[in-house]
Amino acid sequence: MLDTELVKIDVNNIDHGIMKRAGAIIRRGGLVAFPTETVYGLGANGLDGAAAGRIFEAKGRPSDNPLILHISDVKELDKLVRSVPDSAVRLIDRFWPGPMTLVMDKSSRVPEEVTAGLDTVAVRMPDHEIAILLIRYAGVPIAAPSANISGKPSPTVAEHVMDDLMGRVDMIIDGGRVSIGVESTVIDVTCLPVTVLRPGGITLEQIREVAGDVSVDPALADIDGISVPRSPGMKYTHYSPEAQVIIIDGKVDRVAEKIKQMTRELEGQGRKVGILATEQTRQLYSRGVVIPAGDREAPGTIAARLFSILREFDKRKVDVILAESVEEKDMGLAVMNRLLKSAGYNVIKV
Ligand code: AMP
Ligand code: MG
Repeated sequence: MLDTELVKIDVNNIDHGIMKRAGAIIRRGGLVAFPTETVYGLGANGLDGAAAGRIFEAKGRPSDNPLILHISDVKELDKLVRSVPDSAVRLIDRFWPGPMTLVMDKSSRVPEEVTAGLDTVAVRMPDHEIAILLIRYAGVPIAAPSANISGKPSPTVAEHVMDDLMGRVDMIIDGGRVSIGVESTVIDVTCLPVTVLRPGGITLEQIREVAGDVSVDPALADIDGISVPRSPGMKYTHYSPEAQVIIIDGKVDRVAEKIKQMTRELEGQGRKVGILATEQTRQLYSRGVVIPAGDREAPGTIAARLFSILREFDKRKVDVILAESVEEKDMGLAVMNRLLKSAGYNVIKV
């Protein structure tokens, strides 16, 4: 057990003394959880294999699931990769700092613990003042996956990190609620067309504007099919609350009808039901624990609340979560990807 130090940082009035201390913890091989714009990250010195190894231990993360290296300046990229393809230069220009991770051929400086033995490394520059300062004060790139116990929904407030990682990390920096709420978009730029391995905070539509032709890893959460993922992390159970999640997919009025019917049946069997609804449908439900995630027409609002709502259902001890599907456009693609994984691909079509 570690003695986890909890610190609060106000983004608008940053205490540099604390940030320096946090950076020093990272540099000497410790673990610090910190906010980014996507989700909270669990950081370690990205050039120190033993330190990166501690991340896997703290999270219970499978050792073949590589980490993302976080940098604070594009200049740091050259030391981490063998070359930066033209496609990457254009994407970086447009989307860094931001929720976009690029997979490139790794240099010899990147320890194999970080890449889980792969010849490629994933790198991103976060768009969050606390994350950037932490990297600067650490003086090294920071290896960081999401700061949750492996398999659980990613943390979007510091309380989620505390619930999962108290006693397992050296410091947790509370910087308030994150803005995006789902992880970065992972893009493989070692090939053409560039390939999206994980949908996230930057949408396919945005990437197409810059990269033109973009392919999507077929293993990606298409609601109709599953195949073998190229991004190792995508094959594991993920984002799962204690409750069983079932997605109801189809036209929204029929989805609501089906959820009402299933709620009656499940409650009849003595099970407590949670309903993951939307602003457009919340008033249709009179039974169950109803939580509207956001606006169907603005899926980014749903992304921002999805993980915290999954955790909220657990706090309210529901047995089953019936989740409405949303359209897989814009941020809706990332939302459905996370929801499908949290449901173990359990989908009822109506
Ligand atoms: P997490 O930080 O928990 O969201 O996990 C990082 C994600 O990036 C996982 O889905 C990894 O599989 C993916 N990733 C990291 N490095 C690579 C890489 N070299 N090639 C492909 N995917 C990667
Ligand atoms: Mg994760």
